[in-house]
Amino acid sequence: MSGAAIVGGGPAGAAAAIALARAGLRPRLLERDAVAQEKVCGEFLAEDAARGLAELGLDLVALGALPLRRAIFAAGRATAEIKLPFAAWSLPRARLDAALLEAAAAAGAWVEMGMAVAEAVPDGSGWALRLADGTALHAPALVLATGKHELRGLRRAAQGGALGLKLVLQGAAPDAAVTLLVCPGGYAGLQPRPDGGANLCAALDPHAAGVAAAARSAEAFVAHVAQGSELAARLLGAMRPAMARPLAVAGIPYGFLHRGDGPFRVGDQAAVIPSFCGDGVAMALRSGLRAAQALRAGVTAPAHHAAFAADIAGGMRIARGVSAAALRAPSVMIAGLRLFPGLAGLAARRTRLG
Ligand SMILES: Cc1cc2nc3c(=O)[nH]c(=O)nc-3n(C[C@H](O)[C@H](O)[C@H](O)COP(=O)(O)OP(=O)(O)OC[C@H]3O[C@@H](n4cnc5c(N)ncnc54)[C@H](O)[C@@H]3O)c2cc1C
Repeated sequence: MSGAAIVGGGPAGAAAAIALARAGLRPRLLERDAVAQEKVCGEFLAEDAARGLAELGLDLVALGALPLRRAIFAAGRATAEIKLPFAAWSLPRARLDAALLEAAAAAGAWVEMGMAVAEAVPDGSGWALRLADGTALHAPALVLATGKHELRGLRRAAQGGALGLKLVLQGAAPDAAVTLLVCPGGYAGLQPRPDGGANLCAALDPHAAGVAAAARSAEAFVAHVAQGSELAARLLGAMRPAMARPLAVAGIPYGFLHRGDGPFRVGDQAAVIPSFCGDGVAMALRSGLRAAQALRAGVTAPAHHAAFAADIAGGMRIARGVSAAALRAPSVMIAGLRLFPGLAGLAARRTRLG
């Protein structure tokens, strides 16, 4: 193999593949799923994601993304609504990821679907990869883009973590809005999808009461979110799950930021922005593009990780504070937003990529 190997075909891996392929290098992207899948994701994309996608030649509107203009917050009996201070969209992940992978192949990357990598170890002149089917490969450089999933021997140095659940619902969510619903152990985001129906996605403390049951059935998940606020009970009472059980991902290390050696880590393998703030897809695109630049320029992985961490550490710190405060005292946050609606815009701008 002459080009870099990219393990994982989410936004981060695909962005790196597009950028490397456009530079004339021929990366090999290995994705374990046979086709792009729905993922545990709120599917909320803002201007920073739109900018990253534009840099890669993709346009959210052309992909059929649905514009979102307002944010609604609910906890108990309290609600607040603000106008979003930036452009935002809703786009299903299966569609976004498929478009990015198509763009990577069109740019000249060697995109191989249905190829799970079991292990990658340094071999003196690069990396030795072993696929799940036993095939052995060598690559001069490795971009680790496995998202929330760890590769044997290359686990992130991250502790604990939240449980992410996602469910597609039939029925109407509030029009052109992302609705944030506080519930026991965390919060859920509800937003309409472009082709009808809605996406319900939650980040929860796995030890909170009722959360384990919520992960096992769609009805239990909906009931769990519904008990957090009057608004959630009313909205979700009029909707029906389109899946038997939610998609789930455990151990999400919010606040994780990689610094150090190893392969070029991108996306959730490089940083996981706390819930409530920023959007992970924008960060994944940015990190994929930056890793490709670093590889082309001969920058080492530790130097690249240090530069990327310096770029986003400030926003991550603010995001951690905002997220913790909002989850500790949601009613206070909602009262504050009613009095000073500009606060949410300020916090959102300070935690997003410039
Ligand atoms: C509850 C929750 C809500 C979220 N809401 C939003 C939101 O509203 N907006 C937003 O922008 N972000 C959101 N995020 C964050 C966002 O989903 C991630 O930051 C983003 O998906 C990271 O992209 P990635 O490319 O790093 O990883 P992923 O999108 O997870 O892609 C990783 C890919 O690697 C593949 N893979 C894994 N292991 C292997 C292997 N061994 N071999 C080959 N392939 C492999 C997987 O199949 C997958 O396709 C949310 C996250 C959570 C948990």
